[in-house]
Amino acid sequence: MSLNAFYRMTNPVQHYEWGSRTALTTLFGLPNPEGAPQAELWMGAHPNGCSLVEVDGAPTRLADLIAAHPEATLGASAAPVGALPFLFKVLCAEKALSVQVHPSKGQAQAGFARDNAAGLAANAPNRNYRDDNHKPELVFALTPYQAMNGFRDFAAILALFQLVAAPSLASLVSAFAAEQTPSGLACFFRALLTLQGHAKEEAFAALHAAAMAHREEETFAAVLDLFEQYPGDVGLFAPLLLHVVTLAPGQAMYLGAGTPHAYIRGAGLEIMANSDNVLRAGLTGKHMDVEELLSCTRCEPTPAEKIMLAPRLEGAVQHFDVPVPDFTFSVYPAGQHELHSASAEVLLAIDGELSLVQEGASLSLQPGQSAFVPAVTGCYRVQAKGRFARAGNG
Ligand SMILES: [Zn+2]
Repeated sequence: MSLNAFYRMTNPVQHYEWGSRTALTTLFGLPNPEGAPQAELWMGAHPNGCSLVEVDGAPTRLADLIAAHPEATLGASAAPVGALPFLFKVLCAEKALSVQVHPSKGQAQAGFARDNAAGLAANAPNRNYRDDNHKPELVFALTPYQAMNGFRDFAAILALFQLVAAPSLASLVSAFAAEQTPSGLACFFRALLTLQGHAKEEAFAALHAAAMAHREEETFAAVLDLFEQYPGDVGLFAPLLLHVVTLAPGQAMYLGAGTPHAYIRGAGLEIMANSDNVLRAGLTGKHMDVEELLSCTRCEPTPAEKIMLAPRLEGAVQHFDVPVPDFTFSVYPAGQHELHSASAEVLLAIDGELSLVQEGASLSLQPGQSAFVPAVTGCYRVQAKGRFARAGNG
């Protein structure tokens, strides 16, 4: 088979139970006759949800197209790996996702080898590491998008827990107050994650009372939301530990290794390295390994001004630069654009029709539709009636 300049993608939807039942329909007109949760639309070549492209009239997995032409689809930099280095998603959360930390590449390599040596099956639920890659990620808000990202500073965490004033947490809070350092926070975090029995129930009762009394504040309003969604879960403390932020549409955040975070509600675009490595810290029924989590967590405050990722502007084009080679992400305004694919690319029409043109080839996309552009395509033109997102790794 010979390569086309552009491929229309047919993308799988993941129906995780925290997904919105309306967002993909509202944003992109995607039908949802059964009213199922539509959590994530995946654009990529991941084995757990691979996009389809049309090759010689037949629906073909994007992964198979890439495997047949690694160099021409991926370009020289990614061809040796033989897989798309990134996964691009539309994510629509109605309920919070788990609080989580992603390992660094070194931690993932060591941890994956350890899990393999321990004889854990690839899909074992108690496996910490699914692969040997890091999982940096970037999220770009399409609607107001509430999330938790990074530790608050030590004094702010202490003030919130002092306000909750749970008797069963008093000695832990004083110990942290006496040692306001990363290791002091690590001890405090570990103690919260491993609370049991009566101490845990009493702490939740105090937390709930404080949240009711301060429900007009975003932090405590988030705690109350989470009480409804995840009763009895240690993640209920997370809004006191982590910054609670709401991205305005068009704002973005980058989550590097070691930063605890959770998405609470909203629709956005998410792009990440090709990995499934997630260490959980609450708001989940899935496996949690507190010690492994802590070994991968940077227990340091994230300064408030570092939470958002401001774009680098090139005219009206927004480039969201990240400190990893796994992906690039840019948002283009309506208009005419001359582009050059230096890697495999995925273009997603956000809020207007998009036409991709190269001599002898053209493809038009409606909002919510995406195209795969092989590295070998090179120069092409885009006529956009609205914004579009461009993902790549070159
Ligand atoms: Zn994450």
